Amino acid sequence: MINAHVAVIGAGPCGLGCLRELDRLGTHDVVVLEAASGPGGLASSVTDARGFTWDRGGHVVFSHHGEFDRLLADVLGDDLLHHDRSSWVLADGSWVPYPFQNNLHRLDPDTALECLIGLIEAGTSNAGSAARSDFGSWIHATFGPGVARHFMAPYNEKVWATDPSAMSADWIAERVSTTDWRAVLASALSGTDDLAWGPNNRFAFPAEGGTGEIWRRAAEPYRDRIRYDSAVDWVDAGAGELRTVTGDEVAFDHLVSTMPVDLLVQRTIDSPDDVREAAGELVHNTVHVVGVGYEAPLSDDRSWLYFADPTVPFYRATNFAKYSPANVPGSDTRRFSSWMCEVSSSATHTRSSDGLGEEVESALRSTGVVAGRPEVASLHVEEVPYAYPVPTLGRDAALERVLPWLEERRIHSRGRFGTWRYEVGNMDHAVKMGTDVARRIVNGDPEELV
Ligand SMILES: Cc1cc2nc3c(=O)[nH]c(=O)nc-3n(C[C@H](O)[C@H](O)[C@H](O)COP(=O)(O)OP(=O)(O)OC[C@H]3O[C@@H](n4cnc5c(N)ncnc54)[C@H](O)[C@@H]3O)c2cc1C
Repeated sequence: MINAHVAVIGAGPCGLGCLRELDRLGTHDVVVLEAASGPGGLASSVTDARGFTWDRGGHVVFSHHGEFDRLLADVLGDDLLHHDRSSWVLADGSWVPYPFQNNLHRLDPDTALECLIGLIEAGTSNAGSAARSDFGSWIHATFGPGVARHFMAPYNEKVWATDPSAMSADWIAERVSTTDWRAVLASALSGTDDLAWGPNNRFAFPAEGGTGEIWRRAAEPYRDRIRYDSAVDWVDAGAGELRTVTGDEVAFDHLVSTMPVDLLVQRTIDSPDDVREAAGELVHNTVHVVGVGYEAPLSDDRSWLYFADPTVPFYRATNFAKYSPANVPGSDTRRFSSWMCEVSSSATHTRSSDGLGEEVESALRSTGVVAGRPEVASLHVEEVPYAYPVPTLGRDAALERVLPWLEERRIHSRGRFGTWRYEVGNMDHAVKMGTDVARRIVNGDPEELV
């Protein structure tokens, strides 16, 4: 039996943020149990047999929290590339800069007019009421039927693999650009693009190794405390013990868990039925990441592209060679380019992954993203079973039944799927949550994101 003051499940951004802060505060009696054979979790990267590097879905580095900024500066220093976002939406055959609703003048005149009239009517009649409704109603009330029909509704249904009317509208804040119809009208009449919205309009990316390089380097100083290939099999909350699939047993005073909280509850042998039932109500989607490496020079200057059309398999395509030349073999972007595409599915929106790589590659060409018929140098398909925690209408009520029960037993469920809150589900939030829970365990300080 290993005795640890703090056991941590997961060496992703949240677990590593926690480990780092515990170390800084002088708590070294810590063990991290990680199911995978390396660190990084959803923010890890892989280099395939042909030498192309891929993330697990399009990651960019931006931050709201000093704790993440400091981690990044410590581990990467200057090994970061900085980009201005160039993000576009393909809608009804037109490329429109993101945010779509701010740049309607790029659409054909009839569609632009339909969107504009809806936006003005929504802006002048629904003020104040939209925020309280479900996400589908919120989209229609906020943007009007045109923007809803041509982009917002089909795009969101595609990303989340969930009907927007089954989702809450409480999480939106800075995740969806709301807009002032007067500014849109001015932009439409002058034909000027509005590109600035959002916290990621400038972003950074590691110079090499993909996003996962951050976490490889962050984990390195603490390798004596991290056990890889050690999935936690069961937890006994009352006894303060857990066991891994490899047979290690750990007794803990505190458990910080960053695994999906529904699975944690399933694996907690003494969790009561009502907590299990609530955890079972939490909804997530799955993303297949399809990386297509081409033997063709990098010629596209755009960062990433959105697709609302349900006949296009992916909702987003990322120009990954543009993020860093090191994402292609030999950093040779005069010879190679790469597109990383994300395809969602869920229990309600199923899709077969058979032939998905070929389907995605063909759609890159049919949408005009890739010109001609360049040679495919690599086709990398990876499933991310838990990708987006879906903010359903019942999510918060379910979490209120699950998290306090765990917390009373000194089990702190944190991070993207530990708290199931997409609105605070990025890397910076995960590091902040990990750091804060460490401070609370050691010093009793209040946490800011829970
Ligand atoms: C498609 C996609 C795009 C994204 N884009 C961005 C972006 O642009 N910018 C950004 O900042 N963030 C982005 N994110 C979010 C980012 O990946 C997460 O914020 C971050 O990885 C969350 O860290 P975490 O530590 O909370 O969880 P995770 O990364 O999920 O880490 C949890 C860890 O727990 C381990 N684990 C699970 N079960 C067990 C078990 N039973 N025993 C032991 N270990 C276990 C897992 O292997 C994993 O390593 C994106 C995510 C996705 C899916």
